[in-house]
Amino acid sequence: MRFETKAIHDGQESDPATGSVTVPVYQTSTYEQDAIGKPRGFEYSRTGNPTRQALETALASLEGGRHGLAFASGVAAATAVLQTLKPGDHVVAGNDIYGGSYRLFEQVFRPWGLETDYAEISEPDAFKAALKSTTKLLWIETPTNPLLKLADIGALAELAHERGILLAVDNTFATPYFQRPLEWGADVVVHSTTKYLGGHSDVIGGAAIANSDELYQKIKFYQNAAGAVPGPWDCWLVLRGLRTLHVRMREHERNALRLAQKLEKHPAVSRVYYPGLNSHPQHELARRQMTGFGGMIGIELAGGSEAVERFFAQVKIFMLAESLGGVESLACYPPKMTHASMSPSERARRGIHDNLIRLSVGLENGDDLEEDLVQALKAES
Ligand SMILES: *Cc1c(COP(=O)(O)O)cnc(C)c1O
Repeated sequence: MRFETKAIHDGQESDPATGSVTVPVYQTSTYEQDAIGKPRGFEYSRTGNPTRQALETALASLEGGRHGLAFASGVAAATAVLQTLKPGDHVVAGNDIYGGSYRLFEQVFRPWGLETDYAEISEPDAFKAALKSTTKLLWIETPTNPLLKLADIGALAELAHERGILLAVDNTFATPYFQRPLEWGADVVVHSTTKYLGGHSDVIGGAAIANSDELYQKIKFYQNAAGAVPGPWDCWLVLRGLRTLHVRMREHERNALRLAQKLEKHPAVSRVYYPGLNSHPQHELARRQMTGFGGMIGIELAGGSEAVERFFAQVKIFMLAESLGGVESLACYPPKMTHASMSPSERARRGIHDNLIRLSVGLENGDDLEEDLVQALKAES
């Protein structure tokens, strides 16, 4: 079956008890057992819940993986993957990653004993140069947040496997509709389902998808033992989002591409980051590795941080907010919002300048979005 059909049917057969065509919200903590040692498949909802299981099956199917696991948030999913490592192990992560992932590596896992070095995400050789004898995992995000750089998943999978280590890919920005890292050789895919998979800015969730039974068992053990599981309602919301993922992603992309093309020609905008533009330095890789370019755009304003303030005072449809991937258009200022946990020098080193704005292009009418941005940039030109 193809993606659109799987999104609507996999893991979502009609309810065996009632025939309900949507997966019911199994709002229960525990399950009656037929006899001692004879549960009917579920025992306790931290360990397993039918609504969560439906979501996990659907997520695995869409990523083309064998096993899916759902978590209470994206960072909880990342934590579960990192907890398969041991103190003393080393990770090489991409240098342009979600601020919360960076915080997790530096402020949670470094004190615990996991050491992380950062490599230029667009250069597989930089990852190679950062490898140590203790390196156990490569961690990337592609396209990245907020600069929309790409990592070559196939090249990094090859590098990891030559060394007998794992490659983890945060696929939140692309979604499985546009990119399936497991098919390029990644070992585990991580998501913040809060974003496009949920798609409506109404739930916090995360996921990890893997092919290997061994890795899956380790992450599943941690999911149950440490317990950052999503409740059934939250699973239901993400599942509902998944059913329209393909339709939404096509529209996000259509709106984003036209805005990126428009902004690229605007005199108040000094730079546009969007993998779908011919001017993107890795446009060829994007065409090869992805089947679409997504709905996220980064722009730099010629007028610097003061121009950024004026832009946010003027813009009407785009809401000033963190997060992304919902039906409504959002704009954020990474230096003070998503990447505030990085020091100014760290940000500068990574190319996150004070004139950068990140746009999550929503599903409103494209003409309205374009007019809104043009009027907000008017004072600048
Ligand atoms: C939001 C986000 C996360 C973290 O997910 P939460 O659901 O907020 O915990 C991780 N990676 C990326 C790329 C994100 O955008």
